[in-house]
Amino acid sequence: MENLLGKIDQFGPEKIICVSDSKTGMRGVLVIDNTARGMGKGGCRMSPDVTVEEVCRLARTMTWKWAMVDFALGGAKGGIKADPGSSDKEKIIRAYVRALRKHIPDEYIFGLDMGLTEADAAIVVDELDDLKTSMGTPQELGGFPYDELGATGYGVAEAVKAACSKKKKSFRNTTVSIQGFGAVGRAAAKFLAEEDFVIVAVSTVEGVLYNPAGLDIEKLLELQQEAGDEVVKAYEDGQVMNLGEELTLNVDVLIPAAIQDIITEDNAAKINAELIVEGANMPTTSKAEGILAANNTLIIPDFVANAGGIIAAGVGMDARNSCQRIDAREVYCLIEEKMHDNVSLLLERAEKEEISTREIAKSIAQNRVIKAMQLRGNKNISLV
Ligand code: NAD
Repeated sequence: MENLLGKIDQFGPEKIICVSDSKTGMRGVLVIDNTARGMGKGGCRMSPDVTVEEVCRLARTMTWKWAMVDFALGGAKGGIKADPGSSDKEKIIRAYVRALRKHIPDEYIFGLDMGLTEADAAIVVDELDDLKTSMGTPQELGGFPYDELGATGYGVAEAVKAACSKKKKSFRNTTVSIQGFGAVGRAAAKFLAEEDFVIVAVSTVEGVLYNPAGLDIEKLLELQQEAGDEVVKAYEDGQVMNLGEELTLNVDVLIPAAIQDIITEDNAAKINAELIVEGANMPTTSKAEGILAANNTLIIPDFVANAGGIIAAGVGMDARNSCQRIDAREVYCLIEEKMHDNVSLLLERAEKEEISTREIAKSIAQNRVIKAMQLRGNKNISLV
């Protein structure tokens, strides 16, 4: 904890709440990072390896993400240390939200991240007996199923399209490698394949599937329903390679859409893609970023590129509070608009100011948060 206290800065975290339950073995954390622009909202991650520090970093990413899309919400994130494949998953989720019932939904609204699905959001709503406690619930429970509709992956695909358009690169035959074939990766693959991008590689924890002539994404999606992560082995028309090899393939676009800190100083120099669009949160370390910048690799940072899901969640919250149904087409249009505006702005400013897209995006998001803090009477903080 001492270590964490030393990492608190002028933005937060405002609260770190650790919870446990000896009956189920549940261990969890809720981090409310910064609420100057609105109450805390962010997904909850279930993983056997999740740490408090990781959830703090994810909560900070949420602060920038909400500010970047200019929604009046603040950064927060949940973490549950458990195996999402466990037969006790439901009991553990129930114990987690029961332990946090004083904070949900007044200070934090539950949402989905790695390891959790719409069915889990439904459990949260049932345990707390309140539809307003979670986003990402199935439609039957008044929610907007942003994972099922692939809102984050749709946004990632739009970010790729926006960057290609700005660089005058045609979509047809542009090659893409995707790490992670979960909620984000498979939706990005589907929407990009529909626009004639050639998806040459996808990976899951089980390995990397590669075919330089392109993978049949529809077929992969169908196979995945039965095979799960084993889909990379079940698909016959391609070779299976070792994990990590998808990052260094000779492709135009790389989409990390699995875990954090996988592009590092050890592999950054081997990356061939000229464009990296970060579907995952925090996939690139700062040392790797320096190497990539020296190689002129363009990065669309996580809190810009993977904001499709939070745009859908924000619209969903507004609609639910006013008892309205959500039109998925309107959500897709809003995601498309925000992605194209933000990516164009970043690329234009990066070229003019000769600094990285991440630094530009961070300064835009930070200044929005700082302005809100100043308006609330904080005189110790100034614009960057
Ligand atoms: P998910 O659990 O649905 O899927 C994760 C995928 O990554 C699976 O296919 C898994 O097999 C694969 N994977 C895990 N470790 C891997 C490794 N080392 N190498 C290759 N593949 C690996 O998760 P998700 O919801 O798609 O989230 C993926 C990333 O996107 C996370 O960083 C998450 O924080 C971020 N994200 C998700 C959303 C969302 O709406 N789901 C929104 C924003 C950001």
